[in-house]
Amino acid sequence: MTYSLYQHQDIHNNTITFPAGKVVCIGRNYLDHIRELGNEIPEQSLLFMKPSTALVGIDTPLSIPKDLGECHNELEIALLIKSPITKGDTINLAEMIWGVGLGLDLTLRDLQANLKSKGQPWERAKAFDDSCPVTPFVPLSEFDNLNQLEFKLSVNDKVRQEGDTSKMMRSIEALLTEITLCFTLLPGDIVLTGTPAGVGVLNSGDKLALTLANRYKFGCEII
Ligand code: ZN
Repeated sequence: MTYSLYQHQDIHNNTITFPAGKVVCIGRNYLDHIRELGNEIPEQSLLFMKPSTALVGIDTPLSIPKDLGECHNELEIALLIKSPITKGDTINLAEMIWGVGLGLDLTLRDLQANLKSKGQPWERAKAFDDSCPVTPFVPLSEFDNLNQLEFKLSVNDKVRQEGDTSKMMRSIEALLTEITLCFTLLPGDIVLTGTPAGVGVLNSGDKLALTLANRYKFGCEII
Protein backbone atom coordinates (compact mmCIF):
# COMPACT_ATOMS: atom_id res chain seq x y z
CA MET A 1 0.00 0.00 0.00
CA THR A 2 1.23 3.50 -0.70
CA TYR A 3 0.40 6.84 0.74
CA SER A 4 2.03 10.19 0.15
CA LEU A 5 3.57 12.24 2.88
CA TYR A 6 2.60 15.89 2.82
CA GLN A 7 5.09 18.62 3.65
CA HIS A 8 4.40 22.33 3.97
CA GLN A 9 5.74 24.41 1.07
CA ASP A 10 6.29 28.09 0.42
CA ILE A 11 5.31 29.86 -2.79
CA HIS A 12 8.73 29.16 -4.31
CA ASN A 13 8.11 25.44 -3.78
CA ASN A 14 10.67 25.24 -1.00
CA THR A 15 9.87 22.91 1.85
CA ILE A 16 9.02 24.61 5.13
CA THR A 17 10.66 22.40 7.72
CA PHE A 18 7.89 22.27 10.31
CA PRO A 19 6.24 18.85 10.68
CA ALA A 20 2.79 18.40 9.17
CA GLY A 21 0.61 18.73 12.24
CA LYS A 22 -3.05 18.75 13.04
CA VAL A 23 -5.56 21.00 11.30
CA VAL A 24 -7.95 22.87 13.58
CA CYS A 25 -11.05 24.04 11.72
CA ILE A 26 -13.75 26.56 12.51
CA GLY A 27 -17.31 25.84 11.50
CA ARG A 28 -19.86 28.60 10.98
CA ASN A 29 -17.67 31.68 11.03
CA TYR A 30 -19.36 33.50 8.13
CA LEU A 31 -23.03 34.46 8.40
CA ASP A 32 -23.72 33.98 4.68
CA HIS A 33 -22.62 30.33 4.89
CA ILE A 34 -24.60 29.71 8.10
CA ARG A 35 -27.68 30.98 6.26
CA GLU A 36 -27.13 28.91 3.11
CA LEU A 37 -27.13 25.67 5.13
CA GLY A 38 -29.88 26.81 7.49
CA ASN A 39 -27.68 26.31 10.55
CA GLU A 40 -27.94 28.12 13.88
CA ILE A 41 -25.46 30.85 14.81
CA PRO A 42 -23.19 29.28 17.43
CA GLU A 43 -22.54 31.09 20.71
CA GLN A 44 -19.06 29.63 20.83
CA SER A 45 -16.98 28.84 17.75
CA LEU A 46 -17.73 25.40 16.37
CA LEU A 47 -14.37 23.60 16.39
CA PHE A 48 -13.31 20.34 14.82
CA MET A 49 -10.05 18.79 13.64
CA LYS A 50 -8.53 16.98 10.73
CA PRO A 51 -5.45 14.79 11.28
CA SER A 52 -2.14 15.34 9.45
CA THR A 53 -3.11 12.52 7.05
CA ALA A 54 -5.89 14.78 5.71
CA LEU A 55 -3.27 17.17 4.32
CA VAL A 56 -2.27 17.06 0.67
CA GLY A 57 -0.58 19.61 -1.58
CA ILE A 58 -3.07 21.28 -3.89
CA ASP A 59 -0.68 21.03 -6.82
CA THR A 60 -1.26 17.29 -7.10
CA PRO A 61 -4.47 16.17 -8.87
CA LEU A 62 -7.11 15.78 -6.18
CA SER A 63 -8.81 12.46 -5.76
CA ILE A 64 -12.16 12.70 -3.97
CA PRO A 65 -14.25 9.82 -2.58
CA LYS A 66 -16.61 8.53 -5.25
CA ASP A 67 -19.24 6.40 -3.54
CA LEU A 68 -20.18 8.43 -0.45
CA GLY A 69 -22.52 11.05 -1.88
CA GLU A 70 -21.77 14.68 -2.59
CA CYS A 71 -18.28 16.03 -1.87
CA HIS A 72 -18.38 19.82 -1.35
CA ASN A 73 -15.78 22.55 -1.63
CA GLU A 74 -15.26 24.85 1.35
CA LEU A 75 -12.55 27.37 0.54
CA GLU A 76 -10.90 28.80 3.65
CA ILE A 77 -7.98 30.96 4.70
CA ALA A 78 -5.29 28.67 6.16
CA LEU A 79 -2.81 29.84 8.79
CA LEU A 80 0.47 27.98 9.28
CA ILE A 81 1.53 28.10 12.93
CA LYS A 82 5.17 29.04 13.63
CA SER A 83 5.48 29.00 17.41
CA PRO A 84 3.48 27.27 20.16
CA ILE A 85 0.29 28.99 21.29
CA THR A 86 -1.46 27.79 24.39
CA LYS A 87 -4.21 28.78 26.80
CA GLY A 88 -3.89 32.35 28.03
CA ASP A 89 -1.17 33.47 25.61
CA THR A 90 -1.43 36.99 24.25
CA ILE A 91 -1.78 36.62 20.51
CA ASN A 92 1.06 38.15 18.50
CA LEU A 93 0.49 37.21 14.87
CA ALA A 94 4.00 38.13 13.68
CA GLU A 95 5.53 35.82 16.27
CA MET A 96 3.03 32.98 16.01
CA ILE A 97 2.04 32.67 12.34
CA TRP A 98 4.51 31.62 9.63
CA GLY A 99 2.24 32.52 6.79
CA VAL A 100 -1.06 32.34 5.03
CA GLY A 101 -2.42 30.03 2.35
CA LEU A 102 -5.71 28.62 1.19
CA GLY A 103 -7.19 25.30 2.20
CA LEU A 104 -10.15 23.27 1.03
CA ASP A 105 -12.16 21.77 3.86
CA LEU A 106 -13.51 18.96 1.66
CA THR A 107 -16.79 17.76 3.11
CA LEU A 108 -18.89 14.70 2.27
CA ARG A 109 -22.12 16.62 2.71
CA ASP A 110 -24.62 13.74 2.49
CA LEU A 111 -22.60 11.69 4.95
CA GLN A 112 -22.22 14.72 7.26
CA ALA A 113 -26.01 15.24 7.25
CA ASN A 114 -26.48 11.59 8.12
CA LEU A 115 -23.93 11.77 10.97
CA LYS A 116 -25.47 15.01 12.27
CA SER A 117 -28.93 13.45 12.32
CA LYS A 118 -27.60 10.61 14.48
CA GLY A 119 -25.66 12.96 16.75
CA GLN A 120 -22.40 11.33 15.68
CA PRO A 121 -18.98 12.99 15.16
CA TRP A 122 -18.14 14.39 11.71
CA GLU A 123 -14.73 12.81 11.10
CA ARG A 124 -15.94 10.32 8.49
CA ALA A 125 -17.30 13.25 6.47
CA LYS A 126 -14.50 15.75 7.02
CA ALA A 127 -11.28 14.12 8.26
CA PHE A 128 -10.68 11.37 5.70
CA ASP A 129 -7.37 11.02 3.81
CA ASP A 130 -6.69 13.99 1.51
CA SER A 131 -9.71 15.90 2.84
CA CYS A 132 -7.58 19.00 3.37
CA PRO A 133 -5.78 20.13 0.21
CA VAL A 134 -3.67 23.23 0.94
CA THR A 135 -1.77 25.69 -1.21
CA PRO A 136 1.83 26.72 -0.60
CA PHE A 137 2.09 29.35 2.14
CA VAL A 138 2.87 33.04 1.66
CA PRO A 139 4.99 34.62 4.44
CA LEU A 140 2.97 36.68 6.88
CA SER A 141 5.06 39.79 6.16
CA GLU A 142 3.45 39.97 2.69
CA PHE A 143 0.10 40.93 4.23
CA ASP A 144 -0.88 44.19 5.91
CA ASN A 145 -3.95 42.94 7.74
CA LEU A 146 -5.13 39.35 8.13
CA ASN A 147 -8.57 40.61 9.05
CA GLN A 148 -9.00 42.17 5.60
CA LEU A 149 -8.04 39.41 3.20
CA GLU A 150 -9.98 38.54 0.08
CA PHE A 151 -10.06 35.04 -1.35
CA LYS A 152 -11.87 33.36 -4.20
CA LEU A 153 -12.60 29.97 -5.73
CA SER A 154 -13.63 29.41 -9.33
CA VAL A 155 -14.74 26.03 -10.61
CA ASN A 156 -14.51 25.54 -14.39
CA ASP A 157 -14.03 29.31 -14.83
CA LYS A 158 -17.16 30.22 -12.85
CA VAL A 159 -16.77 32.03 -9.53
CA ARG A 160 -18.22 29.84 -6.80
CA GLN A 161 -16.94 31.34 -3.53
CA GLU A 162 -15.80 34.85 -2.71
CA GLY A 163 -14.72 35.57 0.84
CA ASP A 164 -13.22 38.38 2.85
CA THR A 165 -11.92 37.86 6.37
CA SER A 166 -13.40 41.25 7.35
CA LYS A 167 -16.76 39.42 7.23
CA MET A 168 -15.77 36.75 9.75
CA MET A 169 -17.84 36.70 12.93
CA ARG A 170 -14.62 36.49 14.96
CA SER A 171 -11.22 38.03 14.18
CA ILE A 172 -8.13 35.88 13.60
CA GLU A 173 -6.83 36.89 17.05
CA ALA A 174 -10.12 35.97 18.75
CA LEU A 175 -10.20 32.61 16.95
CA LEU A 176 -6.67 31.73 18.06
CA THR A 177 -7.51 32.70 21.64
CA GLU A 178 -10.65 30.57 21.59
CA ILE A 179 -9.03 27.55 19.90
CA THR A 180 -6.12 27.48 22.32
CA LEU A 181 -8.44 27.35 25.32
CA CYS A 182 -8.91 23.72 24.19
CA PHE A 183 -6.09 22.85 21.82
CA THR A 184 -2.47 23.97 22.11
CA LEU A 185 -1.19 24.86 18.65
CA LEU A 186 2.32 23.75 17.71
CA PRO A 187 4.70 24.72 14.89
CA GLY A 188 3.43 23.01 11.72
CA ASP A 189 -0.21 22.96 12.78
CA ILE A 190 -2.73 24.66 10.48
CA VAL A 191 -5.85 26.63 11.36
CA LEU A 192 -8.68 26.78 8.82
CA THR A 193 -10.77 29.86 9.51
CA GLY A 194 -14.18 28.91 8.11
CA THR A 195 -15.92 29.03 4.77
CA PRO A 196 -18.01 31.79 3.25
CA ALA A 197 -21.13 30.96 1.22
CA GLY A 198 -20.90 29.09 -2.05
CA VAL A 199 -20.29 25.50 -1.02
CA GLY A 200 -21.23 23.06 -3.76
CA VAL A 201 -20.59 19.71 -5.37
CA LEU A 202 -17.21 18.80 -6.85
CA ASN A 203 -16.99 16.31 -9.70
CA SER A 204 -14.20 14.48 -11.49
CA GLY A 205 -12.76 16.67 -14.23
CA ASP A 206 -13.54 19.96 -12.44
CA LYS A 207 -10.79 22.55 -12.72
CA LEU A 208 -10.36 24.75 -9.67
CA ALA A 209 -8.71 28.19 -9.53
CA LEU A 210 -7.94 29.62 -6.09
CA THR A 211 -6.95 33.24 -5.52
CA LEU A 212 -5.57 34.76 -2.34
CA ALA A 213 -5.54 38.54 -1.82
CA ASN A 214 -6.01 39.08 -5.59
CA ARG A 215 -2.31 38.30 -6.04
CA TYR A 216 -1.55 34.65 -5.40
CA LYS A 217 -3.15 32.16 -7.76
CA PHE A 218 -3.24 28.39 -7.49
CA GLY A 219 -4.92 25.76 -9.61
CA CYS A 220 -5.84 22.12 -9.35
CA GLU A 221 -7.90 19.47 -11.01
CA ILE A 222 -10.29 16.91 -9.50
CA ILE A 223 -9.68 13.36 -10.73
ZN1 ZN B 1 -15.13 24.41 6.73
